[in-house]
Amino acid sequence: MASLTTTQRTVLTGARVVLPSGVVDNHPLTVEGTSIAANEPAEHSTLDLSGRGCTIVPGFVDLHNHGGGGASFTSGTAEDILTGVRTHREHGTTTLVASTVTNDLGVLARQAALLSELVEQGDLAGIHYEGPFISPCRKGAHDEGLLRHPDPAEVRALVEAGRGAARMVTLATELPGGIESVRLLADLGVIAAIGHTDATYEQTREAIDAGATVATHLFNAMPPLQHRTPGPIAALLEDERVTVELVNDGTHLHPSVLQLAVRSAGAGRVAFITDAMDAAGFGDGMYQLGPMQVEVRDGVARLVEGGSIAGSTLTLDTAFKRAVTLDGLSLPDAVRAISANPARLLGLSDRIGSLEPGKDADLVVLNEAYDLVGVMRKGEWVVRPS
Ligand SMILES: [Zn+2]
Repeated sequence: MASLTTTQRTVLTGARVVLPSGVVDNHPLTVEGTSIAANEPAEHSTLDLSGRGCTIVPGFVDLHNHGGGGASFTSGTAEDILTGVRTHREHGTTTLVASTVTNDLGVLARQAALLSELVEQGDLAGIHYEGPFISPCRKGAHDEGLLRHPDPAEVRALVEAGRGAARMVTLATELPGGIESVRLLADLGVIAAIGHTDATYEQTREAIDAGATVATHLFNAMPPLQHRTPGPIAALLEDERVTVELVNDGTHLHPSVLQLAVRSAGAGRVAFITDAMDAAGFGDGMYQLGPMQVEVRDGVARLVEGGSIAGSTLTLDTAFKRAVTLDGLSLPDAVRAISANPARLLGLSDRIGSLEPGKDADLVVLNEAYDLVGVMRKGEWVVRPS
């Protein structure tokens, strides 16, 4: 019986640990049951990581993810969805929000009902609706024939279809009904994310004033920053109320632009996301993204028709490694962008996003080269350091 099992007590020793107070060398980290404990218990097992240049960071939190491991969150069975969840877990993502893509409202509601069951049982942290309330001018990999104006009644119906699991809706706030929908989402406690948008600078400011707090993959699927027409990018970067999502895969953004955005917003207002699709952690080939056909070649996903970038094949361990080895982020800043900030947006900072006593034992062990060698979720090894 589970109740008779001795609670697991493990002390991880010999690693550098990224704590909220800073980076501490050779810091023993105690795991008791599913949580991080303050003190070493009398009886415990030890996992000694010394001599390997290991760093322990909080488990990664992905706000925007469509699938992985050959499986999609936008179609398929609960088992398919769990395949995607497991794949990303093996790459360090211990908390994951499943993203949908534009589809019929009825289809989205059915997907949401299934996703909400997995949220209920703790395998997912929520649902993110990307579309259908987005701009045909900036549709990216979304089916233009299924786009709609953000009618608040329909927005509310989609949120309700998630049975309490809807966490974020990406919408083009300049469309008719957009500002009203932002206000409604803010009232419902759901993040209004500005994205796939053709808004001006002024229109974007209006949406932020109405309660929008996230920029969906900043730079991608929105007008570019221009010196006389700054557009949404300047408005989203400059406002303290907004967190900007960035896809750090080297394809969605030039490293120089990513670094510029991090410096401009500050590490406290950045969230690294994958925007991953089925091919993440799986391989090249032909895939579906919602109703759209996608070809993945050399790890880059593009629509068969038109060639738009169609999500990524990124996993967050790669995004983290890029951040500290290529982009010049400090370890604490990279942890903010990939764990603490998204945890705060989800309202989960009391449980996850940092390594502190009482919080969930969700952690990632990296080697000297910042490659992932271990993942623990709620005190259980997903990948055990060998
Ligand atoms: Zn997406």
